[in-house]
Amino acid sequence: MPKPQRREFLLGAAGLSAVPFLGDTATVQGGDVSFQNNVPDPAVSGKELPTFKYALEKSTGKVMRSSYGKEATVTQLPISKGIAGVSMKIEPGGMREMHWHATAAEWAFVISGRVRTTVIDPEGSAETNDFEPGDIWYFPRGHGHMLQCLGNEPCHFILIFDNGYFSEFGTFSVTDWIGHAPKELLAKNFGLPEAAFESFPKDEVYFAFGPVPPEPAKPPLQGLKPPPLTHKYRLLAQPPHRTFEGGREWRVDSSSFPISKTITGVVLDLDAGALRELHWHPTADEWQYVISGSVSVTMFGSHGRYRVESLEAGDVGYVPQGYGHSIENTGPGPARILIGFNTGIYQNIDLSQWIAGNPADVLATNFSQPAALFEKFPKKDVFLTDRDGPNG
Ligand code: MN
Ligand code: MN
Repeated sequence: MPKPQRREFLLGAAGLSAVPFLGDTATVQGGDVSFQNNVPDPAVSGKELPTFKYALEKSTGKVMRSSYGKEATVTQLPISKGIAGVSMKIEPGGMREMHWHATAAEWAFVISGRVRTTVIDPEGSAETNDFEPGDIWYFPRGHGHMLQCLGNEPCHFILIFDNGYFSEFGTFSVTDWIGHAPKELLAKNFGLPEAAFESFPKDEVYFAFGPVPPEPAKPPLQGLKPPPLTHKYRLLAQPPHRTFEGGREWRVDSSSFPISKTITGVVLDLDAGALRELHWHPTADEWQYVISGSVSVTMFGSHGRYRVESLEAGDVGYVPQGYGHSIENTGPGPARILIGFNTGIYQNIDLSQWIAGNPADVLATNFSQPAALFEKFPKKDVFLTDRDGPNG
């Protein structure tokens, strides 16, 4: 009797594996790297989910004097195809030189210290802004900008880019360009003698160092010509978007910060033991940076694939669009997480909300449980709960 059962099982398994399904690497043909939503992504279509954690602050990155840039791109964290991130510290008098990004918009959150930025847009409008901890900026793809430490304390901020293939070390820097253009061409371009460019840097400077900047900022050479939409938003100066037993959420997308058309930012505070419940985002990937505390992040990837990562302060996590996940504060104190989404319009579906949106008989049949059990489930969205849960 055991023999036929075994053969039946093997036949069944063979039949199943012959059917292409979303997540099957066999359905990727000809090295397709377009990664449309309905094309399986080899980075997440294996039998097991790959790691979705990277210890960003433990990495070295690019260091000059006491300034640095540490990046998390697909090179460091292969799953993170939709979003890259950088942790940058600039010392007093230091400047991340004038540059643009050909392949990504830039969004930033200031952790400590103060920062000044200038940015130019295609209409020739320029904006200079000063930032404090909790403030954010957004620069559309390709708009030229610089970042400068203000005052006598170093500044530290987290940059988020809406393209995981983006590298902070492959940006278009003004010194790199001018250093490699013929002096004759530069002279003609600017109407100056060639000698004027004799002692310009020959290669990319990346971090430039000079005096502590004046306050307030001086006007640009062209005079003031501000853009129609500001690049600055004071996220933590606002009251939280929502407060819960167990935590708070600040959120900013293009509805409150109109220029930020491709990125939504969230700061999530979780008290000890609190949980950001099981949920997913229909339209965006999620990039996480733990500012303080320690959390457990779970991820569900269909076909029985489930993975848990423990993130400490300075670690990065990544959840692809549509993948189920949760964030739980597993440390003794509060935790604060910075989250970026590659969308200007935030969307999420929470599991408690989905359950609450179904009749008890549907749930009873789906789970083979008595209908009465589901009367005890939350009848509305939970989103975030303290250590005792929504009924506690
Ligand atoms: Mn930049
Ligand atoms: Mn999420």
